[in-house]
Amino acid sequence: MTENMKKRNEQLAKTVIKGLESRNMTGYYAKDKEDALKQALELIPEGSTIAMGGCMSATDIGLIDSLKEGDYNYIDRSKQDARAGLMAAYDADIFLSSANAITDDGILVNIDGNSNRVSCIAQGPRKVIFIVGINKVCPDLDSAMKRARNVAAPANAQRFDIKTPCKTTGKCFDCKSPDTICCQFLITRYSRHTDRIHVILVNDEIGY
Ligand code: SF4
Repeated sequence: MTENMKKRNEQLAKTVIKGLESRNMTGYYAKDKEDALKQALELIPEGSTIAMGGCMSATDIGLIDSLKEGDYNYIDRSKQDARAGLMAAYDADIFLSSANAITDDGILVNIDGNSNRVSCIAQGPRKVIFIVGINKVCPDLDSAMKRARNVAAPANAQRFDIKTPCKTTGKCFDCKSPDTICCQFLITRYSRHTDRIHVILVNDEIGY
């Protein structure tokens, strides 16, 4: 990424952070992945119980490894009964997520198949921390929805053994396939609960 593009992204992040503040959510600017990791760990007190909703970005910045190695109670769903893991996530101190898209005035867009991720964002965990690459910022809600459906979801579909039109075409066909990963759409436009939603904007291309 060129220096000029980095500077432009930093200004864009400031715009998004202002938008988040107007929605009773808190935004942070991270200049790179290392900075994002430092910022995330500052928001997570030692001893916290932490759940994650399929957040590739948290893995990408090294946060999951740090939590597993540190003095935290990280809920690793792969190591426990699926329903027990889901239920524990609702009562976690911290929930980690990425966003499928965010508007430049701070509206978060997320799509989910199982719906555990969007339901935990909406309520349950005491604090939600989003790790969001600057590549996910869109100029308005319409383009954010289009990004979520035509970029994030088709890329996500590649991770799973499923049959959906987007997996073989790279774009959304608004399918009703039994395998669809687009059962629920969550638009987070305001947080009634102060200090619950925190968004770390990373000046790098992370996640999808
Ligand atoms: S084709 Fe189906 S699974 Fe794929 S993005 Fe569209 S609605 Fe979601």
